[in-house]
Amino acid sequence: MPTLSPQNTALIVGAGFAGSVTARELAEAGHRVRVIDKRPHIAGNAYDERDAYGVLVHRYGPHIFHTNGERIFQWLSRFTEWRPYEHRVRGVVDGRPYPFPINRDTLNQLYGLDLDEAGAAAFFERVREPREPVRTSEDVVLNSVGRDLYEKFFLNYTRKQWGLEPSELKAGVAARIPVRTNTDDRYFTDAFQAMPLHGYTRMFEAMLDHPNITVELGVDFDDVRHRIERDHTVYTGPIDAYFGYRFGHLPYRSLRFEHEYLPDVAQYQETGTINYPNDHAYTRITEFKHLTGQQHTGTSIVREYPQAEGDPYYPVPREENEALFKRYEALARTEPDVTFVGRLAQYRYYNMDQVVGAALVAARTLIDTLR
Ligand code: FAD
Ligand code: UDP
Repeated sequence: MPTLSPQNTALIVGAGFAGSVTARELAEAGHRVRVIDKRPHIAGNAYDERDAYGVLVHRYGPHIFHTNGERIFQWLSRFTEWRPYEHRVRGVVDGRPYPFPINRDTLNQLYGLDLDEAGAAAFFERVREPREPVRTSEDVVLNSVGRDLYEKFFLNYTRKQWGLEPSELKAGVAARIPVRTNTDDRYFTDAFQAMPLHGYTRMFEAMLDHPNITVELGVDFDDVRHRIERDHTVYTGPIDAYFGYRFGHLPYRSLRFEHEYLPDVAQYQETGTINYPNDHAYTRITEFKHLTGQQHTGTSIVREYPQAEGDPYYPVPREENEALFKRYEALARTEPDVTFVGRLAQYRYYNMDQVVGAALVAARTLIDTLR
């Protein structure tokens, strides 16, 4: 069994949400914590910084915080103040932006209708292609909105984002996107929706600012795994990498981010994000000032180009990948001195709040069993 007790040392691999939340909890329980990350910065994929023009940007794509977990929100609130922010998105079809997720206004604008709520419900009922069971992302969308809306908003976006057909992805991917008969055009409806007032990186700095925590950046676990003395390891990188890809590579989808600063443009687009399902090699453009509320004479945007190679950003939710993950997970269970937590280590399409929740549980388990 694990051997950590107060004043023993934990090595934490990864300074993203999974690693930093666990680090803080262990430190407060009296453990010494050494955090390493191979990148030159903390905050993992939530990392933000001012670009060369002074605009606060998210280096790894737009990160919007939303949760229904009050406990999670309160926990993070110890390390940041918040700026209320409700994200809105448009999906461009045939050159025109429509509210997305699809709602009643989307139907009315797209088809020149004047539906009320009951009319929208009847519309969906008429066009949907019932699927039973609903297994894939194709099933989810056809089952709820039918073929035309599927082809206009989902099919090509999904092909671009994943390099796969919606029928090759589990239902959970497209099920992230709701369908509405009302006119709510918010991307999320969670009870808590807000951005860290001074950015994510500042929030992480506060989280890691504890006398029991040291942070070393630019350090790859592979280079030090046999050298660093510790009583326990918390690993938040890709689980297949930890085991030297023994059973083969787990597929992760990557992105290339194209950041651009536009001088003397106060606002580039009407909403924080605009999705381009059918045009361009990128999936979406995000304008950061919407998210952060920053005032600036210019504006900064990012385009996301999906690709197979590169940093692992998304686990790819498919049956066969999850079967391969299970084999790694079984191997992980034979390593009682290592905790695997986070989006890459648990191979789950987690949002930030879910990673915080998973890390709080992992830390609690560790603290309780190791006492
Ligand atoms: P990561 O943030 O990936 O942190 C893992 C860390 O481990 C990394 O810093 C990495 O460098 C380090 N590491 C890996 N291997 C090693 C090694 N061998 N040695 C040392 N260090 C190592 N979530 C939301 O809730 N809202 C959003 O709007 C949102 N938007 C997103 C947009 C994009 C484009 C992406 C990719 C993700 C988005 N997410 C969003 C998800 C969010 O990024 C993740 O849930 C969260 O950041 C995962 O935290 P983590 O600690 O598990 O992983
Ligand atoms: N999706 C789509 N069209 C869109 C937006 C999303 O088909 O305009 C599908 C696509 O498969 C995508 C998934 O829904 O990968 C989840 O979208 P979300 O915006 O939640 O993705 P994330 O922000 O995690 O990249």
